[in-house]
Amino acid sequence: MSAAKDLHHLGVAGLSRALAAREVSATEAAQHFLARARDRQALGAFLAIDESVTLAQARTADARIAAGGAPALAGVPVAHKDIFVTTDFPTTAGSRMLAGYRSPFDATVVRKLAEAGAVTLGKLSCDEFAMGSANENVAVPAVGAQQATPVRNPWDTGRVPGGSSGGSAVAVAAGLAPAATGTDTGGSIRQPASFCGVTGIKPTYGRASRYGMVAFASSLDQAGPMARSAEDCALLLGALCGPDPQRDATSLDRPAEDYTRHLGDSLQGLRIGVPREFVGEGVAPGVRAAIEAALAEYEKLGARRVEVSLPRTELSIPVYYILAAAEASSNLSRFDGVKFGYRAPEYRDLADMYRKTREQGFGDEVKRRIMIGTYVLSHGYYDAYYLQAQKVRRMIADDFQQAFRDCDVIAGPAAPTVAWKLGEHGDDPVADYLADIFTLPASLAGLPGMSVPAGFDGAMPVGLQLIGNYFGEARLLNAAHQFQQATDWHLRTPPGF
Ligand code: GLN
Repeated sequence: MSAAKDLHHLGVAGLSRALAAREVSATEAAQHFLARARDRQALGAFLAIDESVTLAQARTADARIAAGGAPALAGVPVAHKDIFVTTDFPTTAGSRMLAGYRSPFDATVVRKLAEAGAVTLGKLSCDEFAMGSANENVAVPAVGAQQATPVRNPWDTGRVPGGSSGGSAVAVAAGLAPAATGTDTGGSIRQPASFCGVTGIKPTYGRASRYGMVAFASSLDQAGPMARSAEDCALLLGALCGPDPQRDATSLDRPAEDYTRHLGDSLQGLRIGVPREFVGEGVAPGVRAAIEAALAEYEKLGARRVEVSLPRTELSIPVYYILAAAEASSNLSRFDGVKFGYRAPEYRDLADMYRKTREQGFGDEVKRRIMIGTYVLSHGYYDAYYLQAQKVRRMIADDFQQAFRDCDVIAGPAAPTVAWKLGEHGDDPVADYLADIFTLPASLAGLPGMSVPAGFDGAMPVGLQLIGNYFGEARLLNAAHQFQQATDWHLRTPPGF
């Protein structure tokens, strides 16, 4: 490692090699990224930074490295989406409701990464309770700001970074962290990764523990890493996944895996299924061109393109926005002013305290979801909406199994467009919902999916989405890795990197 000023170019794999070889210390790495985060705080990526906590963790990592036999990620700085609870930093989930909240325990994902030696750089902005597609729904101020601030896309600071893990995508894209955690309920890892030109993977539902992830829609919520390459994601995914039977009943009973084990496999004969519904009208021409070029690259690598169909793709939008809202309305009932965070300062009686706390603590989008969710669960509408949506959800999952008879991996765009301008969707939440069309199906089916940088439309990055069958993460990561060995889209950096 020549100069410390280049550390943000190394990525997780490169940095962990440099740390293990003692070419750089964990303390130097932490200082480097903290300085970058400070210099670029106008991007709004961080909601909490505490240099003394980070540097103390870095010193511990340095001691582990010096003692020998340190774990793979020892000293690698990672920042966490502010939806994971942490003892060392406040947790807000982007909401006024949790202002001032400090968790008495760490989320399992946070704990596992710490055990693997990662050093926490801070907490990253996100849409309130992970509800959004643009990170414009954040209700608490970013580090250095007086008021709640949307996160800015480093490729064009007049544009959104995507959401809800917008802070995570920006931190990686702008080199404020080599890697970040995100969560994906309906696309919140894949879509911001696509908008910011980084790599992100959501594993099979149940692969990562949800313990300590502030719950949005429990049957969909899943954690995953965002980084600059598939190799980096594989390293992190291996550290953060695994069963957690005592704490998350939906965590699957499968041992942790080495997700790097297939990196290097040939793609010869791999059948890439392109759903006809993913490349039709509604996809911006520049996005379609980038995706077509990426598919052609796969053919050069020996893969075979086949057409498949996911006929209920359009239905995934109403199905998701019924089910996610229903689950959210139940999960968010815990925020009543008694147990966590915010309580209205003035009220008449208990019912009034609940009412005022929730009225003042939740933002508009969260209230909208709670109202839709309670409506679709109410007597008389349950069968017509909630139950019906559950049935269609099952059909969407079946459609994937049908498609996987003819292909090994499904590919298409992560989103129909590149990042839009800040404020462009204004007061139209449906415009945001529609933009989730290509990420929602895999979420509803519980399948692993990722977004891989695959070119540009104008100045803005385009993400190629790859979807695998259940537990297909290792092969999915290799499909992305082979593409990244043959292209350099993932190495492109935004202005001023
Ligand atoms: N954009 C979707 C929503 O607003 C997905 C969010 C997510 O994956 N957390 O619900």
